[in-house]
Amino acid sequence: MLDYGRRLLVVLIIAVCIGLMFVGGTVKKAATIQELPENWVWPVEGAISDYFGSRGGEHKGIDIAGVVNTNIKAVSKGIVSKSYYSNTYGHVVFILHQEEGYETVYAHLNTRLVSEGDDVNQGQVIGKMGNTGNSSGTHLHFEVHKRHWSVAKENAINPLIVLHKQESEWASKKAVEAMSLHRNKHVVKEGETLWSISEKYGITVQRLKENNKLVSDAIYVNQMLLIN
Ligand SMILES: [Zn+2]
Repeated sequence: MLDYGRRLLVVLIIAVCIGLMFVGGTVKKAATIQELPENWVWPVEGAISDYFGSRGGEHKGIDIAGVVNTNIKAVSKGIVSKSYYSNTYGHVVFILHQEEGYETVYAHLNTRLVSEGDDVNQGQVIGKMGNTGNSSGTHLHFEVHKRHWSVAKENAINPLIVLHKQESEWASKKAVEAMSLHRNKHVVKEGETLWSISEKYGITVQRLKENNKLVSDAIYVNQMLLIN
């Protein structure tokens, strides 16, 4: 009986310790979140198609898939630190948010609408969604870095922490609605090929075939193809 009482006491002490650890952890977490910007806007209408930390930790941003040429917006005011074309990022815009201490990256754009040195306001359209560079399918690759971007991307943080989860869920829901309403369709005209159609919409032939479950390159006139 005494043994049982002792065991119970040990269990209780352990439970209290674990409880205290939780309290400590929660307080620490709350303090970190308070330092993050509060009012960033969602950069583009679309559905999240890949998350931060995927591909064995190599993916240092989030992917938001949507319709080609959808407006891409600056999440907060800042200055354009880079705007160029790279083989990996494709058309890419970097914005330095000096006051907040972050740099954001918007990659695989179809078109860039700002140049290095430009001041941008929050919500300003800085480019159009595309599929340029090392990308398969129309999407925005979006990164957030504390202070500065670097090649090693050691300052990258999960954009969803800053953008707030609620907003991402809202955006995904809106995007699903938008995409089901405005899902781009193309009716094949004479002389067109999968190559010419994919070129026209800025997507890959592979993607076009996947979207339409095509097993060969053969298409026919008046065939209805789903673009995204
Ligand atoms: Zn990505």
